Amino acid sequence: MTLPRFATVRITLLLACLTIVGFTSAHQHVYTRNWNQTLNAVIYPINGDGHLATDAYIQQLTDEDFSPINTWGEREARRHDLDLARPFDVTLGQSIAQQPPHFPDNANAVDALAWGLRFRYWAWRNTPDEGELTRVRLFIVYQTGEDNQPLKHSLGMQKGLMGLVYAYSLDRQTAQNNVVIAHELLHTVGAIDKYDAYGSPMLPVGFANPTRMPLYPQRNAEIMAGRIPTSPGNAYMAESLRSVIVNPFTAREINWIQ
Ligand SMILES: [Zn+2]
Repeated sequence: MTLPRFATVRITLLLACLTIVGFTSAHQHVYTRNWNQTLNAVIYPINGDGHLATDAYIQQLTDEDFSPINTWGEREARRHDLDLARPFDVTLGQSIAQQPPHFPDNANAVDALAWGLRFRYWAWRNTPDEGELTRVRLFIVYQTGEDNQPLKHSLGMQKGLMGLVYAYSLDRQTAQNNVVIAHELLHTVGAIDKYDAYGSPMLPVGFANPTRMPLYPQRNAEIMAGRIPTSPGNAYMAESLRSVIVNPFTAREINWIQ
């Protein structure tokens, strides 16, 4: 079978780009997971629905709104005896007017790879590197979500140290947004999702305390599962990082422990 010419060219170009991206990310991967120094992560807010209320919400954001993520990182690093006191420093960057590229519906593997490159290009256009190759960039698309539409899935990419987060532009959601942001941040340093196809935390890897007796209800969520299990098949989203921990499975993936 011969592939259509267009498809061949597209795949060849993709592979060439991926090779370059691959070399850069290999360097970033080693560097950021040493935990010799604090990992800088910059938040870039985007108005995702064009609403004035969303603009107003973005305008009033400060570093302070994201500092609970840093405090949480310190707490969890201490629990795992990491030598570094402050593993990450999340700060607020400028807001971005351009929307990120749309992730195709029913994407196959090639579509997903192509989207990843478009996303990288978009990120580079809107937030030039300036030689800072080891900074994490977290793009937060804010929406009021007043029509009760569920938000799209956030995507954290280990390669390229970037994450795309969909969040609510509501004050009462700021603490919960930080759970999602911390989740995507840990993806960028190697952590893997720990929930099943139905969104339920997987046992034991997605549980904060998988050896607790009785097992249910759990009191905390594991960051890469995001939900607090109350009974088999039931769990609710953690309201803030106060009730979220990094369990040993995740700690190993992000190289905090061996
Ligand atoms: Zn995830």
